[in-house]
Amino acid sequence: MSQLLFEIDHPSIPISGSNAVFPVRRIYCIGRNYAAHAREMGSDPEREPPFFFQKPSDAVQVVMPGETGEHPYPSLTNSYHYEVELVAALGKGGRNIPVEKALDCVYGYAVGLDMTRRDLQSQMKDQRKPWDIGKGFDHSAPIGPILPVADTGHFKSGEISLSVNGVVKQKADLSQMMWSVAEQIARLSQLFELKAGDLIMSGTPENVGPVVVGDTLVAKIAGLPDLSLKIVKTEV
Ligand code: MN
Repeated sequence: MSQLLFEIDHPSIPISGSNAVFPVRRIYCIGRNYAAHAREMGSDPEREPPFFFQKPSDAVQVVMPGETGEHPYPSLTNSYHYEVELVAALGKGGRNIPVEKALDCVYGYAVGLDMTRRDLQSQMKDQRKPWDIGKGFDHSAPIGPILPVADTGHFKSGEISLSVNGVVKQKADLSQMMWSVAEQIARLSQLFELKAGDLIMSGTPENVGPVVVGDTLVAKIAGLPDLSLKIVKTEV
């Protein structure tokens, strides 16, 4: 019988009101899913089909309600941006899932941040190279606990916001997503076989912007606990 040469960490996220934890398989992210954000990123929201990218599952940084997570400012960037996003956590998956059945796959929801080295992302885009260094780095997916759909229902509308040092920077409504969570699941399931443990970061509204060491971020979605982060210097 074979055995693992060594153990590795298995990323997971606490589930609110439960001792069970949610094991993370993959993190899918949709790009430019709010029209005003698509415009600020320089694209025409009306004519663009949904597109996706991934973060590695161990990019998850769990931040529990009531705590302020210490988030290391990453290396090699001078433009480190927040993107507050609703995260859907899948309890089951499949291929070619119809939109009408897609929400049956959602186990619960959480507040997340799609942290971005914007300068590196822009450089890579300009050079027609992959984005990974801009989006898929260590700690790039801070996330709060998952609240089960059984307790909260689905999040199709409601305020989503982000403040930095007490000043509101991003503020919009989940209903302004161009592609709903159900539509994202349906489309992703045509591209990949979705499975339990997959997370979908459902896009950020307009007014993304930079943070520096010492800043405190609070991400909010109505009906979910707030997520607080302090940007700290990376230990060398
Ligand atoms: Mn994003």
